[in-house]
Parts: sequence; C-alpha cells; structure tokens
Amino acid sequence: MWYNNILETIGNTPLVKLNKITKEVKATVLAKIETTNPGNSIKDRMALQMIVDAEREGKLKPGGTIIEGTSGNTGMGLAIAAAVKGYRCIFTTTDKQSKEKFDALRAFGAEVIVCPTNVEPEDPRSYYSVASRLEKEIPNSWKANQYDNLSNTKANYEQTGPEIWEQTEGKITHLVVGVGTGGTISGAGRYLKEKNPNIKCWGIDTYGSVFKKYKETGVFDKNEIYPYITEGIGEDFLPQNVDFSVIDHFEKVTDKDAALMTREIALKEGIFAGNSSGAIIAGLLQMKAHLTENDLVVVIFHDHGTRYLGKMYNEDWLRERGFLKDEKLTARSILNK
Ligand code: PMP
Repeated sequence: MWYNNILETIGNTPLVKLNKITKEVKATVLAKIETTNPGNSIKDRMALQMIVDAEREGKLKPGGTIIEGTSGNTGMGLAIAAAVKGYRCIFTTTDKQSKEKFDALRAFGAEVIVCPTNVEPEDPRSYYSVASRLEKEIPNSWKANQYDNLSNTKANYEQTGPEIWEQTEGKITHLVVGVGTGGTISGAGRYLKEKNPNIKCWGIDTYGSVFKKYKETGVFDKNEIYPYITEGIGEDFLPQNVDFSVIDHFEKVTDKDAALMTREIALKEGIFAGNSSGAIIAGLLQMKAHLTENDLVVVIFHDHGTRYLGKMYNEDWLRERGFLKDEKLTARSILNK
C-alpha cells in the first residue's frame, strides 16, 4: 500500500494520552499530535485546503504564484503543496524570525522576502504591504490570506473535528486549543458541538492579545495589545476565522509559563512539541478546578519542537529573558523550579 504523493499523508494524526504533565488535572487528557503531518504542523491541512478551494474557484490557475505573509507553519504547508502541484511560492516575512525558518521554506523552492519588523502594517515596507503589492503586480498570482480565508476553518471542520470525534468514540467533553487565525478551534469546535452541544471549547490566548477581552466584553480594546514572545497564538486584530460563538472561554498564559511548560512536555512525556503546546498545557492547568474525573479533554499540539531549538529549548535564551531563576540550570532542573 502506498500514497500517490506526500500530500495524501496529511491528517489522521495520533491521539496520545498525557500521563505525567497533567497529573494534577482530574480528567483524562489526550493530545492530538499534529507533528506527524509532512510539514510537522497542523497547518498542512488548511494550506492544502486553501489551495484546493482556490483551484476549484478559478483563483489559482496552473503555473500560478502563491503569495502569503508568513514564515511559519502555514508557509511550510503552502510550500510543500506548491512543490507537489507545481506552483511558485513567494512569502513575505519579518526580520525578527530566525534564518532557519527561511531556509526551511527555501528548501521547498519558496522565495522569501524579509521585511523590517518595526514598521506599521500600513507602511509600504511592511510584510503585509509587500505581499499585497506583489499580488497586484505579479500576473496569475493568488494571496492565500490565512486569517480571513474560511477554507482554513473548513479544513478543521472536515478533518480535525471528525478525527477527534471518532478517536474518542464521541466521549470528548472538552477541546482545548491555542487560537491564532482561529481556524483550528472554530472548525474542529463547530463540528464537535454539532455532534454534542455539551462539549466545551476553551481557547488559549496570550497576554498582549485582544481575544479574551473581546469575548468577555465585546470591546476591541487596543490597550490589550503589546509585544509578546509566545508564538502562534494571540492577535492584535480579529481574524474572520475566529468564530467567537464556538469558544466558551479564553484563558491567557504568560510567555514564561508557556516557554517552560513547552520544555516540560518533552521532559515528562517525550513529546517534542512547539511553544503553543506549552501554552495550552499551562492554560489547562490554570483551569483544572473546572474538570472532574469524568471528563475527557483533547488538546491540540500544533507543531514540532525543532522550530524552537534556538528559543525555549535553548537555556541561554531562557536565561536572557529571566525565565530561569538559577544561573546554572540544566534542562532537567527546570522541573524542580
Ligand atoms: N500554534 C501554532 C504553533 C501555530 O502556528 C498556530 C497558527 N498561528 C496556532 C497554534 C493557532 O492555530 P489557528 O491559527 O488555527 O488558530
């Protein structure tokens, strides 16, 4: 038995019980390990869905160019699909991202344009503006726009949600997901709530992001916006893929807790996960009083630890940010902090 190309291996990711890191939570906690996708993240699902839908709608034609402002997981998913399907890819990104990320995208033939970080989105040099200009200037080009492209939510409604329902035999009681574009929680959460409206969906947010306050007050509060370190979750605007009606509660996690918990996942469970996975577990522990032994929680581990080797998996990086209190800490002693 074989697959016709690597894109056919996307999805059907394993669900793995967490045995130590969530010991203080009474519920059973299962992690959906999205790192087994070919680009090592859940974003392969929505990247392919956006391309397939754009092809069907005639927005992306043979020989076309895919444009997106990204350096992360979505870029990887788009670049892999573009390599298989024969599209050109141009990504705009900021100079605060690590060089390894650009090189990974270039490995699949993508062109990466590095733009300055410290300019307003409206500035013509910003990575938003450059992506928009390229879309206008390059004939037969299409901008994926992961934030507002609803194919993102659809991929998770059609794949991630049903997989979780089947893997838990309909017993899931809580879905806990980091929220960035909103596609994962909105799609998977909507599917699961249609199956059982009693299922609770908790979104993990970060300090410096607008989501939690907006959900609780309906106010878009600019004072909530400030720089943060946690990657992949939180936003300073409201993407169309965030369906607030699906999300019952947002829990915010600090950069420090997210970074250190990311490492604990590897140390305690042997799972090499990305930064947002640490945020999710830290957020879940903050919410433990709301869970009983009858609950079955599914958390989503979006991406792989290799993307963060120079960051939270690097002790100098942690120390420079004051995340380690002992100067001579080794990875293992983080557990005794
Ligand atoms: N974690 C990581 C590592 C991500 O790259 C993203 C996407 N920004 C998320 C979580 C959030 O997922 P979504 O965009 O579907 O809300």
